[in-house]
Parts: sequence; structure tokens; C-alpha cells
Amino acid sequence: MNETLRLGTIWGVRVGVNWSVLVIFTLLLVGLAAGNLPALSPDRSPVTYAVAGTAAAIVFFLSLLAHELAHALVAQREGIEVEGITLWLFGGVARLTGEAATPGADLRVAGVGPIVSLLLGAVFGTLAIAAAWLGVDTLLVGVLMWLGLINVVLAVFNLVPAAPLDGGRILRALLWWRTGDRTKAAVSAARAGRGFGFLLVVVGISSVLFLPGIGLLWFALIGWFIASAASAEEQQARIQHSLQGLTVADVMTHDPLTVPPDLPVARLLDEFVLRHRHSAYPVTDGWGRPLGLVTLDRIRNLEADQRAAVPVSHIAAGKGEVAVADPTELLIDVLPRLSQGDRRILVVRDGFLVGLVTATDVTRTLEIGDLRG
Ligand SMILES: [Zn+2]
Repeated sequence: MNETLRLGTIWGVRVGVNWSVLVIFTLLLVGLAAGNLPALSPDRSPVTYAVAGTAAAIVFFLSLLAHELAHALVAQREGIEVEGITLWLFGGVARLTGEAATPGADLRVAGVGPIVSLLLGAVFGTLAIAAAWLGVDTLLVGVLMWLGLINVVLAVFNLVPAAPLDGGRILRALLWWRTGDRTKAAVSAARAGRGFGFLLVVVGISSVLFLPGIGLLWFALIGWFIASAASAEEQQARIQHSLQGLTVADVMTHDPLTVPPDLPVARLLDEFVLRHRHSAYPVTDGWGRPLGLVTLDRIRNLEADQRAAVPVSHIAAGKGEVAVADPTELLIDVLPRLSQGDRRILVVRDGFLVGLVTATDVTRTLEIGDLRG
């Protein structure tokens, strides 16, 4: 769910929306204007229902934003990096790029969202009761009641102990706290998420078969999303576990074969590529300082008749374009760099090239980790 439109920044947290938010907004609006509101306050004009429905839907999205903002702000306070908040088809998501350091921090970040939704539910509910008691317009009472109810529903649904829902994170924090094993806790929460997701899919699909209408089909869609997000989380937890504690130096290819910048591409092919099995060669100066990286892809992009005349430096990715890491950095921290640009990381110590990390190095480490159990 990428950000389609950036709305702005609230307390240092970037907020944006994905186009798919329009789908849920429209569904809510139609449901309100044609169903909920006429039932709560009959005999108004369609325009009145549409205006009240739009206002209610907007306030609902602000409530959703408050829920996600609470996650993001607590995460920031716990030292976890926050990329931003995106509102989309299934509500909101606070994108955190780091992990909680302790079970307590994990619990606080997860728990605050549902607490905010419950509080909002209580506030809107109280306002609805007060408005009804004061004899205010029934349409306003209806909107307030709906807002109170939907915030409570949001909190309760999110508290289901199934990753990636907040309840799943709370379950993970509690299991982590009890067993001291974050990976096992994350895997259990993810499995619960997959189970709950499939359950929703079954409920959604059977509702279409046995009940009139397609209202519950939405369940199937949400269930499918939860199940696939949970599977991804389980895999992520396993990868993190396998790579735990490993440094860049542990997995890198030491002292990789390097090439000088003025070597013609034709000689690079004859003397390196055709003789060795590597798919990337760091370019270094006479002292072993990195200047860039040349890959088979980059050679392929050069016309064959130019290979004799063009030097390696001409086609290589320059220093600023290639990902760099220190050998003492944790592998888990540098992994995102492997998906950038030429998909390799130059390992540099004190200005000199000491190694190269490729996706193959990481895959091999994961496979060996699997063999070790
Ligand atoms: Zn939440």
C-alpha cells in the first residue's frame, strides 16, 4: 500500500493516503446515507443524508488517523523509526522500520492504538447520549452514535490476537515476555493470524452461499489480507532469527576479485568474466580503494563493438551509486541495501575494500542456518 497522495506531517509523522482509501470511503458513505442514517433518523432528504454521511465518514477517518498516530508516536518514543502512516483499503497502517527492543515496548506500541479507539468510542457515545437527552436533532445523535459504535468495533476487531492486528502484536509481546524468545513469539502470533484470516475467508464465502446479499464478502477480503500478511511476518521472523547476531564480515566474500578502472571492457570479459564465476567485480584504484562496481548487466548494456575502446570506469556504477557497509555492521541492518541499485554491497574498512556481499551470500547463510536447525 504505497502512498498515492501525501497529506502532510503531524508531530513529525508523515501522513499519506493510498488511492484504495476511496473504495472504503465510498462504501461507508453509501452505507451511511442509504442505510444507517435513514434508519436512525427517518424522513430526511437524500441530500441531507449524503452531507451527514460524508461528515461522519470524514470524522471516522480522523479517528482512524488518531489510532495510527498513537502507534507511531509511542513507537518514536520507544526509539523505533517510523516511516509514516498510510490510510488505505483496510483502514490505516503505521509503517515502523525498526523493532521494539523489549516486550514492554512492543506491548505499549501495539496497545495504545485500540486504547485510543476505545476512548474515542466512549467520547462519541457520551456525546450521543448527551445530545439525545438535550433533544438535539436526531440526525446528529445518529451520526454520534454511529461514530461511537464504529470506534468500539475498530478497537475490538484490532484486539483479536492474530498478527498483523494489534491483538497479534500484544500476543507476541506477552509470549516474548513469558518465554524470552522473540522469534517463537512472533511465529506463534503469525500462525494465529493465518488461522484467523482463513476463518474470515470461510465465513465470508459461506455467507454468500447461505445468506442473501454480499455484505460479508468483505470478511473474505480482509481475511485473505490478514492471512497473507501473517505468512509474510512469519517468514520475516524466521529470517531475522537465522541472521541474528551475524555481522557483514560473517557472510561477505573476503577480498573479492577487483578490476582497475582503465581496463577495457573487452579485456574484462576475456580475463575476468569468462575465467571466473562472479557476476560482479568491484573497481578499485592501485591501493585497493573502492571506485565503483561493474556487473554483467552493465557489460550487457554496452554495444559489443565498443567493448575494446571503452574502459570499465565508463560503465561501472560510481562510488555514490553503490551500497557500502562496514564489516562490523549487523547483517540484518544492511539487508535493505541489498535491494537497491546493483543489488550488491561493497564492504569497506578504513577506506579500503575488504569484501563484497551479494544476495547469494545471504541465501547461502540462510540455507546453512536451516541445515543447522
Ligand atoms: Zn492499530
